[in-house]
Amino acid sequence: MRYSKLFGKTLNEAPKDATTINHKLLSQAGFVEQLMAGVYTYLPLGLRVLRNIEQIVRDGMNELGANEILMPVLHPSANWKQTQGWENIDVLFKVSSRTDKDYALGQSEEEVVTPLAKSRIQTYKDLPMAAYQIHWKYRDELRSKSGILRGIEFLMKDLYSFHESQEDFDQYYQKAKEIYLKIFTKLGLTAKVTEASGGSFTQKISYEFMVLTDAGEDDILYCDDCDFCVNVEIAKAKEGESCPSCKKTQLKKARASEAGNVFDLGQKYSKDFDVTFTAKDGTRQHPIMGCYGIGVSRVMGIIVEKHFDDKGIIWPESVAPFKMHLVGLDLQDENIKNRAEEVYKMLNTKYLHSGRHGEIQVLFDDRIEKRAGEKFADADLIGIPHRIIVSKKTGDKIEYKGRAEKESKLLTIDELIKQLQ
Ligand SMILES: [Zn+2]
Repeated sequence: MRYSKLFGKTLNEAPKDATTINHKLLSQAGFVEQLMAGVYTYLPLGLRVLRNIEQIVRDGMNELGANEILMPVLHPSANWKQTQGWENIDVLFKVSSRTDKDYALGQSEEEVVTPLAKSRIQTYKDLPMAAYQIHWKYRDELRSKSGILRGIEFLMKDLYSFHESQEDFDQYYQKAKEIYLKIFTKLGLTAKVTEASGGSFTQKISYEFMVLTDAGEDDILYCDDCDFCVNVEIAKAKEGESCPSCKKTQLKKARASEAGNVFDLGQKYSKDFDVTFTAKDGTRQHPIMGCYGIGVSRVMGIIVEKHFDDKGIIWPESVAPFKMHLVGLDLQDENIKNRAEEVYKMLNTKYLHSGRHGEIQVLFDDRIEKRAGEKFADADLIGIPHRIIVSKKTGDKIEYKGRAEKESKLLTIDELIKQLQ
């Protein structure tokens, strides 16, 4: 893609009301624009990152054997009254219609997926059953100031599973947990699994996948020597006490952001909607349900909070909007302009067409009027992992530098391609 044609270029400075790293950098670099607190437009660069994150999450869900579906955002109030969510969930958006009917905007979808499963689960042979979607969710937050970390409107992957027994859910949860950790690693994040209270959904324990970051909204206690990690809200131990699990090290306290969660819903919703199946012993039983979330747009914010320097964002390769940033300098010179065009074409056809869906994976800064310094500052701010320069100086070679590296080097195109493969 040509930067000259990109809708949503870098801004000279971050918006004044931006207080978090992700809000500042994503706005200034041209990935998002805030419409109002907690609600954002995703510009072309931002949408590409969001889609890359989505795909990594989707691949994980498919590996787990779940089926992708798409459920409505607009729900009839009756379903939420059936589960008492209408009265009890304070962040639920309620919409009145001129037809005198009331609706809710989805903030989770048990109220839709459970009645859906009712008509499709007959016997234990239909279980376990798991369906997920990647869709927008709404929460009527009182304050929303952390950029895309805490949206009123946000993109989420939500998976629901139905099981014939608690044991089957527990096994499924273990498998889901492994895949979740793999997903976060692919996204360039290290997540810790904590136990937390089940919140408004259930009296049972829930599991949270927390990423350590000062921009987070939770405090966790964790151990450096083992997997022990717990939300401070329900922790029995304190900071500085020895780890209750391995007894080796003192517990540390840190700020963290919840990137994903799992709720053991028990039979709450299957009883509310009277979903039953014929068990092996012939009796009718209510399935055990699990709900598994990953905040896709929040994860994008967390990645920025973890991967940046004083010049801008440093995207992990797996989610970067483009793989390569080609900076053309001295483009007033017709020969160099032709050379830059040739390199752009070569990279797109020879190597980078192997990108997903044959998409172009090179962002080409082809602006003639911009100075070198401005182009480098933009490239650093946008944070694409590999930068190459074609200029008067580079001759028939190109200059290469990784976004996180200090030194650049002169390479031929073939050497560059070999290095990146
Ligand atoms: Zn420990």
